[in-house]
Amino acid sequence: MDGKMKVAVMNGIGKMGFEEREIPKVKENEVLVKLDYVGICGSDLHYYETGAIGDYVVEPPFVLGHEPGGVVVEVGESVTHLKAGDRVALEPGKTCGHCEFCKTGRYNLCPDVVFFATPPVDGVFQEYVAHEADLCFKLPDNVSTLEGALIEPLAVGFHAAMQGNAHAGQTAVVMGAGCIGLVSMMALKAMGVSKVYVVDIMQKRLDKAMELGADGVINGAEKDAVEEVLRLTGNKGCDLAIETAGTQITTVQTIHMTKKGSDIVLVGYSKSGEMTLPMSLALDKELTFKTVFRYRHIYPMAIEAVASGKVNLKGIVTDIFRLEEAQKAMDYSVNNKADVVKAVIKISEEA
Ligand SMILES: [Zn+2]
Ligand SMILES: [Zn+2]
Repeated sequence: MDGKMKVAVMNGIGKMGFEEREIPKVKENEVLVKLDYVGICGSDLHYYETGAIGDYVVEPPFVLGHEPGGVVVEVGESVTHLKAGDRVALEPGKTCGHCEFCKTGRYNLCPDVVFFATPPVDGVFQEYVAHEADLCFKLPDNVSTLEGALIEPLAVGFHAAMQGNAHAGQTAVVMGAGCIGLVSMMALKAMGVSKVYVVDIMQKRLDKAMELGADGVINGAEKDAVEEVLRLTGNKGCDLAIETAGTQITTVQTIHMTKKGSDIVLVGYSKSGEMTLPMSLALDKELTFKTVFRYRHIYPMAIEAVASGKVNLKGIVTDIFRLEEAQKAMDYSVNNKADVVKAVIKISEEA
């Protein structure tokens, strides 16, 4: 497709602007997607506020956004499973396909992954993107492209739940009720976990957790989360804890609130990258620690979970902005972290 498209770019820390660029050409194994919605992720906000995450440093102009949903408008010659008009969720990481990690099915660990909005690779706060057809997943009729955009964070939640061997009959605790905490809670429920409790210090977020299906919430600013979990489990402790808050306090709490022999999944990055933990207690309890880096092989399952009504994915959206409002969308999200659970950018007027 010939023509120009509008692209929202980050021109520096705290500075958004716009560029007009060529609509990308599709290669034979790619499809051209007209984007409807792109979610704003915590990592986008972090790049916007600080210009870097670890060794990944933004060189402006840089395009943020890696949570896209849209409609296929053109397909490459060798693409057979998609056609124009199909609505899709886009998995943002292209992997090499032949390293040790790709070959053993752990492609999220591929050292050569090319991932939207991870410098120097541009993201998708723009009208069109050409993407590998294999990474575009068709949405059923009852799943919207807004939900399609949110499959990306939901995939993190499912990967966390699977890393923790979540299963029916368990009691689990999720630390943190931000976007990733909420999708983790919903993934645990979708996987049949009997009771999921959510801990946060912001009541608004806890109310959201209840609305989206948590079995109970604990306000850590008012109550001791460990004591509450022990009380709720008849002093046994929980079978699984997923830590999404990324603080030492909440991570230490998971070690105290879990039953012997249980699993703790660490999802949240801490500010300094380091923390001190009561390891003797962890050994005494023979706890298993798992971590999460993005996700693998999750999109089809996550889409099915939304289609079947097991996950109320659009319920996490609190704010929708237009592409023209990119500056406002980013500033509002940065300045209202207590109120914004999930903000998305609506790119297409027809969506
Ligand atoms: Zn994200
Ligand atoms: Zn690889």
